[in-house]
Parts: sequence; structure tokens; C-alpha cells
Amino acid sequence: VDESVREDMKKLENTFPGISDRFRLVNRIGEGTFSTVYKAEDLHYDAHKNDWDVLTSAQDSYTEPPSKRRRVEGEQAGRKKAKYVALKKIYVTSSPLRIQNELELLHDLRGCSSVCPLITAFRYQDQVVAVLPYFPHTDFRIQYRTFMVADMRHYLLSLLTALNAVHDHEILHRDIKPTNFLYNPELKQGVLVDFGLAERQGSEYASPCLCTHQSYARRSRILSSYFSKNPPTNGLSAGYPKNDSRPSRRANRAGTRGFRAPEVLFKCTSQTTKIDMWSVGVILLTLLGRRFPFFNSADDIDAMIEMSSIFGTRRMKAAAAMHGQIFETNIPTIGEKGYSWEKLVKWSSCVEDLTESELQATRLLSGLMDLDPSKRLSAEEALQHEFFTDPVH
Ligand code: ADP
Ligand code: MG
Repeated sequence: VDESVREDMKKLENTFPGISDRFRLVNRIGEGTFSTVYKAEDLHYDAHKNDWDVLTSAQDSYTEPPSKRRRVEGEQAGRKKAKYVALKKIYVTSSPLRIQNELELLHDLRGCSSVCPLITAFRYQDQVVAVLPYFPHTDFRIQYRTFMVADMRHYLLSLLTALNAVHDHEILHRDIKPTNFLYNPELKQGVLVDFGLAERQGSEYASPCLCTHQSYARRSRILSSYFSKNPPTNGLSAGYPKNDSRPSRRANRAGTRGFRAPEVLFKCTSQTTKIDMWSVGVILLTLLGRRFPFFNSADDIDAMIEMSSIFGTRRMKAAAAMHGQIFETNIPTIGEKGYSWEKLVKWSSCVEDLTESELQATRLLSGLMDLDPSKRLSAEEALQHEFFTDPVH
């Protein structure tokens, strides 16, 4: 362990009274915008058995992978087994409401084995530390390159199973991306973490988005035919307006750039669990295209430009109209028609032809990355896809 990490761990032990009585900090394993995560050994594991009761069935998979565990047990027969936890120190700059929200939603999801459960949480003054079972996993940036299609299938099966459970509770994770899904290739299982941005579906108070109106299809036809005859000309120079003075619509746009669904970019006020399905699509695209990150936009406008280079302007306009927005661009490289996923995957991965199983995965990809959230596959539907039910090898 690095000297600066050791110092950082000392600091936590010193500022949080009592923490070192119960935990021995081992390493720092994550540093995000909202928290720092440490691996620690729970020294009270036996004495505090009750804390772990809720986890009994899931617990075994949170220690070391089975093969390694068996060896350790053999060597240390009779000795107390170490229990590792992840200590998530939530930054004091995080809003108390955000922290409460994460803890509440995790409590709702405590029965889901594919959601990393919360053991407990401590507060000292303005600091909060959440305690989670430690889940051994590999770094996506290292593993994605070596993934065969069969590995992608296991990865996605586990991720979709986890999301299916979360979505069953009508909860949107909002931040699906590789660092929030801890995957263990040996177990072929992963757990979802980081419910800091998660929310209950329908918790937005704004007026419902146009896309929820049954007649939106009819309306969008009217809108798009109107605007194709009367394109907005107000100062739209090359690219996009930098200083747009129109009042902005307010919608939840939380998430990570590159993983945001089109309806998030179009500020839909009636976002559903389908936004997570788009992000799953982006992960699959990363795996198939062998590029991480696949999208590399600096902001939402950039992200729309990236999207329209793939989908073409015609489909982007229709997608915008669905949410009562107008999409216009005069960037010359963006065509009207866009490209097929098959072509994109081939270009991105630099291959001439896709194998049968890659084609199957690409068909799943197109079901996940549908611009229209109502047509996009749900987790339940995706699990029934031929890629899982009838895999070609
Ligand atoms: P943040 O809100 O800062 O993104 P996360 O909950 O996503 O916090 O955790 C950040 C990182 O810490 C994860 O990407 C992962 O590497 C590590 N981590 C979090 N929880 C666990 C856990 N239960 N077991 C092992 N590692 C974890
Ligand atoms: Mg995270």
C-alpha cells in the first residue's frame, strides 16, 4: 500500500472515533465524486453475527472466490475466517438527502442478492460511513479487452438479472456503468453498487412529458412535419447555439456522460427504468466494439452529436419530437440516415465480418439502444432474448 493511501486511511481512523476498534483498514479501493471506498477487515465479525443475519445466504459469495477460499480454509482450519467489508466514506459535500435516499433505497432492495447490501452505516458529526460486504471483482478496463462472446453473455446475464430485480421495485438506478457493477468472472456473478443517484419511478413532480400521452405519435408527426417546412432559423450558425437564451426545461439529468439515454438528453420529465437499459446497451457496445469509453462526450450537446452520427438526423428528430423537443443540426458530417449496429460494431472492432454469436449479441444491442424508450427492451424482455435462450456457439 502506497504511503499517501496509508496516510489517508490513518486520517479516517483518527477522525472517526471507534472505527479502528471494529475495522482494520486494508486498502483504498475506490475514489469517486461522492465517496472514497476502503477495503477493511471486520474485527467484530463473530461477535456481531446478528448484523450479518440478513446476509447469510448471500454472504458466502462475498468472501474470496470459492477455489481460493477452500485453500485458505484448509490451511487455517479452526482459525477464525476473516470477513472483509467495503467502507464507503461519503463526502461531507454530499447532500444529506442524497445519503438518506441511497440508504433508504438499499433498504428496500435488501432482498435482492444481486444488489450489494448495506450492513450498517455510521455517522459521526457530518461524516457518514456505509458498511458493505466486500465483493472481489476485476477492473472492467482490464477485462473488457479479453472478453469472448461467452464472457459477455455471463456478464450481461448477471447485470440484467440484477436490474430486473431493481426495476421490479420500480427503482431507476440512473448510473449504470462498469464501475457500478462489480463483476467477478470466476463466479460469473456481479453485484450492483452505488445507489446514490437512484430514484423511484414517477418521483418527478414536473408535468408529464409528451411521450406519456397516448396521442404523442400523432402529435410528433404534426410537429416534425411543421418543423421540416419551417425550420427554426433564429441564429442557428454552424454547430449549435452556444448562448441559448430560451428558458430551459428542468428534468433529472443525473448520470454519467456517455451512458445517458437519449430521453435524458432530451430532458424528458417522465423517465422510466428504460434509461438503465440504454446504459446496459452502451456497456454491450463497449464490449462488442472493444472500445472504452465508447462515447466520449464533454457535455450533453456533444453527446447528442455523437448519437446523431450513429442514428442520423431523421431518427434523432423523431426521438426529440417524442419528448416535445426539436432537434436541428447543420453539422455537415452528420447524415440523415445513420448506420446499422452491425456496421458500427465491425468498424469499431476493426473486423471484416461478425461471427454468428456476435451477430446475435448485436441484435440484442439494437433492442437495448432503441431511441424510443417505449420500444427499448426491458430487463425482463432482454433476459428472454435469443442471445441468452438460444445461444449460438
Ligand atoms: P461512488 O459514489 O464514489 O462512485 P461506489 O459505491 O460506486 O461510490 O464505489 C466506488 C468504487 O469502490 C467501486 O467502483 C468499486 O471499485 C469499489 N467498491 C464499492 N463497493 C464495493 C464493495 N462492496 N466491494 C468491493 N469494492 C467496492
Ligand atoms: Mg460509482
